[in-house]
Amino acid sequence: MNNKPTIAVIGAGLGGAAAGALLQKAGYPTKVYEQAPAFARLGAGIHLGPNVMKVMRRIGIEEKLNAMGSHPDYWFSRNGMTGEYQSRIPLGEFARENYGAAYITVHRGDLHELMVSTLDQDNLYFDKRLVDVDDSGNKVVMTFADGSTEEADLVIGADGVNSRLREKLLGPEAPIYSGWVAHRAIISAEKLKAYDLDFEACVKWWSEDRHMMVYFVTGDEKEYYYVTGVPEPDWNHGTSFVDSSREEMRKAFEGYHPTVQALIDCTETVTKWPLLERNPLPLWHENRLVLLGDACHPMKPHMAQGAAMAIEDAAMLVRCLEEVGAEHYQQAFELYRTNRFERASRVQQVSHDNTWLREDEDPAWVFAYDPFEVPLKQPTSQ
Ligand code: FAD
Repeated sequence: MNNKPTIAVIGAGLGGAAAGALLQKAGYPTKVYEQAPAFARLGAGIHLGPNVMKVMRRIGIEEKLNAMGSHPDYWFSRNGMTGEYQSRIPLGEFARENYGAAYITVHRGDLHELMVSTLDQDNLYFDKRLVDVDDSGNKVVMTFADGSTEEADLVIGADGVNSRLREKLLGPEAPIYSGWVAHRAIISAEKLKAYDLDFEACVKWWSEDRHMMVYFVTGDEKEYYYVTGVPEPDWNHGTSFVDSSREEMRKAFEGYHPTVQALIDCTETVTKWPLLERNPLPLWHENRLVLLGDACHPMKPHMAQGAAMAIEDAAMLVRCLEEVGAEHYQQAFELYRTNRFERASRVQQVSHDNTWLREDEDPAWVFAYDPFEVPLKQPTSQ
């Protein structure tokens, strides 16, 4: 007989999928509701540091990811114009030995598909957009855009930067447009063979106010990916991304190293995304509702740690429910917030400043972290 509370996770992004998988593994009757009718393999990559891979181990997909991903030996930072090396951060074997897991880069769509496949498919609902919650009784009543209602004891808002649950807790407030965009393109590595240039497995090309991060997204190194950070004063498109072009890329990276020019020449399609942020939220949970990931700390992606923070949040939330006993969910939620706020806010700030690994530095505070093993801090007041 299962006495654990029923839990609804809103959003099956990377944070929601991690939360759902870990909760179901821990025996919580958990349903995951996603607004999208289905997921597509969008043209984008993602870094998974050792901090995330330790959570993937608990979910049971670490080995599959190791087989799927590219394993860079270093993160290089280079001067965008001259190509001079600014930092060489050891990953590869060094990461496995010193941080407790691999550092990989993968296709975001492949990662997402694998994560979603770990969920109990009978309790995963697509085309379910949450529009309202009523948290005034013994259960939370959720209303969806299709007019249906569902109940759960606890509700986790993993519903991204425009979170409906955040709005419910804190009122309507649009995220802040950072004044930066990101271009994203996947390039066939076959095309790059025409150039007598070295295309490194994980390299960030920098100049004063912009950068281009480049890496492979598959273990067989057939797909190479770039993602930029480029200032653009306004974003008035009203959509989450728009098409960009080779011409726009050439203009944005004029004067950059021949390797970067080759990537632009080989670009077939490229999209452009506004980078959104929020200041640290004063409230992460109330009564039976709790937030995680971009719903409570969206950030510029310049540390490649946004999804990592969502996944670490999911792990810490499940750990705190187990630690305190889910019947004391308010204490568990406060323990979770206490143990996540400082780290997530620090990562938000460093991402905002875009200084991460630009010069040689010790990344252990990010990569060595394990949300299941880090000593828990107790809340100062309840
Ligand atoms: P999301 O991934 O946004 O998922 C939210 C989900 O909730 C979505 O599926 C959405 O459809 C659903 N949803 C929303 N509203 C509702 C509703 N009302 N009802 C039901 N469902 C709803 N992070 C890294 O760790 N490494 C990287 O290399 C990296 N690169 C990035 C590059 C770029 C250009 C950008 C923009 C981001 C990058 N990030 C990276 C950050 C990362 O993408 C986000 O931080 C991460 O996706 C947040 O996960 P999440 O689950 O909190 O939110």
